[in-house]
Amino acid sequence: SSTVAVPKLKMSDGREMPALGLGTYLGFDKNAVVPSKNKQLRDVILEAIDLGYRHFDSASIYNTEDEIGEAIKMKIDEGVVTREDIFFTTKLWNTKHKREEVEASVRNALEQSGLDYIDLYLMHWPIGLNADYSFSDVDFMETWRGFEDVHKLGLVKSIGVSNFNKEQLQRLLNEGSVRPVALQIEVHPQIIQEELINFAKSENIVVVGYSPFGSLVQRYGKQFPGPKMDDPVLMEIAQKYGKTSAQVVLRWLVDRNVVPIPKTINPKRLQENINIFDFKLEQDEIEKINRFNSNTRYTEPSFWQTHPYYPFEQVKNPLPDPFRD
Ligand code: NDP
Repeated sequence: SSTVAVPKLKMSDGREMPALGLGTYLGFDKNAVVPSKNKQLRDVILEAIDLGYRHFDSASIYNTEDEIGEAIKMKIDEGVVTREDIFFTTKLWNTKHKREEVEASVRNALEQSGLDYIDLYLMHWPIGLNADYSFSDVDFMETWRGFEDVHKLGLVKSIGVSNFNKEQLQRLLNEGSVRPVALQIEVHPQIIQEELINFAKSENIVVVGYSPFGSLVQRYGKQFPGPKMDDPVLMEIAQKYGKTSAQVVLRWLVDRNVVPIPKTINPKRLQENINIFDFKLEQDEIEKINRFNSNTRYTEPSFWQTHPYYPFEQVKNPLPDPFRD
């Protein structure tokens, strides 16, 4: 199979991000605090690199930094890629928000992955928690000072945030010394994020879109309301370009300058998801997909909604906290 050349987006610090990445969140085992382990992930990453994937999305809480790093090292040793070709993102977990904990967390990610720098380091949430998952009052601006420290040390090349709302992002821009270059948020046809994306773009912040397939796929073994793979609107566009509905939705993100990070561990779908750079949607097709918007989030940790830095709307019946017993 041939290698796809994925285009790159320029970030405000002068560095470049591949316009598509591979998600690696594999879910949690039934006790929620233990991330699932998939022994095959290393082999999936090896295959992904052969197909042209250069951008990998991890997080301390996903427990996948080791297998991603191992595969990257193998492909560098094989001469398939150089370290500079690869874009490795990982994230600080909420229980490590004190300024000094940031450097320790980065060093742990470097040790796990075996890499000597991280391309993009993200604050996973604006929410700081204690080790027992009770709320901590660490201000995310203190955490950001820690991000500026590891950036200055060169341990991470670029820094950014995830799951920040507009006001929180604005505060970071006002009070920080180093600007965030990227914002990772949930973006799919049920939550098109027009306002936050426009704001980020106006500040020259690259938007990375997580859970790009929205309701097209099952989540947590369940179907959610919203378009499925056989949706007639998506099918009509897909047929026009000789693509699948999954590819049309990924292309809808790319055409809005959002970097999708679809997750798959299936070789056929790995190939399908990267094969989106030989067509382009028309403006009216983008708008047709925008009309699916219902502002529905799949990642909505409402058990944190009384935290002072909870970024989303409050809900009536918050979920029980899976991190606490
Ligand atoms: P996705 O929208 O990527 O959906 C993943 C699901 O879709 C899997 O079940 C996968 O199954 C299936 N799938 C993948 N490709 C196809 C295809 N072409 N056709 C049909 N089914 C397909 O959801 P995620 O929630 O995993 O989001 C992607 C990534 O975003 C995560 O892995 C993580 O890296 C990041 N993320 C970040 C968050 C944050 O807070 N910052 C929160 C949530 C996600 P299979 O593997 O069997 O193909």
